[in-house]
Amino acid sequence: MLQKGFSIRPALGIDIGGTKVAYCLGRPDGTLLARHRRPTEPSGDPDQDIARMGADARALLDEAGLAPGDLAGVGVAVPGPLDPARDRVIDPPNMPGWHDVNVVARLRDALPGVPMVLENDANAAALAEARFGAGKGFRSLVYLTMSTGVGGGIVMDGKVRHGRTVSAGEVGHIPLVWEGESCFCGLRGCAEAYLGGRAWARRLAGVAPPDGRVAELAGGREHATPVQVVEAAKEGDAFALAEIERFNRYLAQTLVVLTFVLDPDAIVLGTIVAAAGDELVLDPVRSLVREHAWGRIAEGLELRAASLGEELPYYAGLCVALAASDSSSTS
Ligand SMILES: [Zn+2]
Repeated sequence: MLQKGFSIRPALGIDIGGTKVAYCLGRPDGTLLARHRRPTEPSGDPDQDIARMGADARALLDEAGLAPGDLAGVGVAVPGPLDPARDRVIDPPNMPGWHDVNVVARLRDALPGVPMVLENDANAAALAEARFGAGKGFRSLVYLTMSTGVGGGIVMDGKVRHGRTVSAGEVGHIPLVWEGESCFCGLRGCAEAYLGGRAWARRLAGVAPPDGRVAELAGGREHATPVQVVEAAKEGDAFALAEIERFNRYLAQTLVVLTFVLDPDAIVLGTIVAAAGDELVLDPVRSLVREHAWGRIAEGLELRAASLGEELPYYAGLCVALAASDSSSTS
């Protein structure tokens, strides 16, 4: 049953990704009305970039026969860091020239009078997996991106937990090894330094056997990434299997920390884990978590691979808008 004031109006999502900007018009039940994706191609000038995004968003509305006034809201997902209270993007790594930019104010030119919400990409992805993906039906969920870096988002009762400095959910920088491997964030021993694709590639360049299967698949160990490790492990390659085992231990350690801090219903794991599958990663990690967390915490905890895959960018921005419109219409 719809709650009083619950909006069934469509919302618009804009996901500013590393390589593509994804636009999506959809309804709260997940019906997509129109969508579009184009290369990010940053110009170096935020005014120009955002004007183009505004024009793309308007074109999508036109395609669906809608006007800005028909929208319940607009959600914009961007790589962090950001300051949502001031609607500002601080320094997204994929958008040169975007220093402390008020995205919302600039998008208003194209979309006047529509409520807009800004969210970092990992939190937006967490909302999307919680609403339409592997986390559907759970009240509390942690999502980990598991891509080149390890981003995270915490969703409780449909809302993202931001914390005091919008850093809640930065699971990738929990120290797993005190003074351990250096992390790209400047700290040492972070989970990302053991689990992130970029850190793993750096390690492979030094430790992968030069004549081994991983190096062969990658065209040289200096080009190796977790993609080839997963592929070689599926073939039974001993080095790749040992690498996966190492990854699983650090991942399980991270997840045990999360379960004790948050005791969530589900933890949803993205890219690398989704690609590796149950046998290589999820099943061994489930066993490790059961061994290292209290029974009553580990028993009912759902560990799942993310399910939205290539569709994620469309749902990410959309779910930011939908989550905001849910809370404004029910509070
Ligand atoms: Zn770090």
